[in-house]
Amino acid sequence: MIRKWLGAAFLALLTLAYGVAADAQTLVLKGGTVYATPEAAPLADAVIVMSSGAITAVGPASEVQIPPDARMIDCTGKTIVAGFWNSHVHLTEAVWKNAAEAPAASLTAHMQAMLTKWGVTTVWDLGSDPTDGFALRKRINAGEVLGPNIFFAGSIFPRDGHPIYLPPEMQLPEAATPERAEHLARSYMQMGLDGLKLFTGVFKGEDKAVVNMDAAIAKAGVDVVHAWVKPAFAHPQNRAGVDAVIAAGADVMAHTAPGANYTAEQLERFKQQNIALIPTLSLFAKLPIPPEISARLVDSAVQQLKAFSENGGKVLFGTDVGFTKLYDTTTEYELMHRALRGSQVLAALTTNPAGYFKATSKGRVQQGFDADLVILDGDPIADVRNLAKVAVTIRAGQVIYQKP
Ligand SMILES: [Zn+2]
Repeated sequence: MIRKWLGAAFLALLTLAYGVAADAQTLVLKGGTVYATPEAAPLADAVIVMSSGAITAVGPASEVQIPPDARMIDCTGKTIVAGFWNSHVHLTEAVWKNAAEAPAASLTAHMQAMLTKWGVTTVWDLGSDPTDGFALRKRINAGEVLGPNIFFAGSIFPRDGHPIYLPPEMQLPEAATPERAEHLARSYMQMGLDGLKLFTGVFKGEDKAVVNMDAAIAKAGVDVVHAWVKPAFAHPQNRAGVDAVIAAGADVMAHTAPGANYTAEQLERFKQQNIALIPTLSLFAKLPIPPEISARLVDSAVQQLKAFSENGGKVLFGTDVGFTKLYDTTTEYELMHRALRGSQVLAALTTNPAGYFKATSKGRVQQGFDADLVILDGDPIADVRNLAKVAVTIRAGQVIYQKP
């Protein structure tokens, strides 16, 4: 009885503490230039007010009332855009092991080095240990660890589909039949994962053939997650892998597939089926291969991105970070800019993923939207490299990274 009462009292105190904290945490950004969306005209000398995780006001300094007790960040000379999505990451590094018990400070520090220092407020993890992932997400959502909003996708590999770049002892979920793919996809959904990642093509090594997944097997997995209204990502690797994406009805290509330009027919199907593309160009730029081969892969991937985008396809920013140790996003922006305008690169980070994944309160700096914002040192439309020059990252109205 006493314990019950103590529990209730503790809860009441906690509620009180949070109530007070929420008021004290009304956050105001003052003096910066705001891009509400990538295509919108910039608003100079703006004021943004955030409270309880949402944007409560945005407008010119002359029109927005600043609450007297708010915490203020002076943004003079800075540019403010919506929080970035990295739609292809892996929380697989050793630092995430035992995420339930690991010290919060070390988890926050690595989130900053890998993601939030680069303006990232939402990620899609396309393959990791869900035990650690769920624990990490819980601690982030409780405000104990500072990090992004995380979505998880569970993987399915084809038979004999162990990629050469993953440790041979690693146990991977392979599906040799549609029934097996259906079973795996259903178990991921029941486990609480947010999507599926199919390897419709697997790289086995320079001298070996790519192993592709039968479209019927891929489709069995896709149908399950679509019934749960969740997206299916796919790693295509080659032209047959791209065809399997189309035939299976998967939603997002997790990479370009350098070496095989998209055919006119593939481009037409991308449009019909609303298939999105994550280019991961810097991944190909930083592979441990001779520079002239890497340059050829990058050129081919840039061509694919260009053809895809000019065809009207939705491009989603993603780097495969966690698999690659390249945390700095500058190269990805420079390479994307070879195929896209600056505003299109910003859209791939903000409005495109929010729209594609139906996150209706994300992707814009607008009243009523989530207070996920990035304060940049320079204008990203004038120079895309400024997208990597992050002064402050804010998620749900809380500063999760601030440049020292
Ligand atoms: Zn990946």
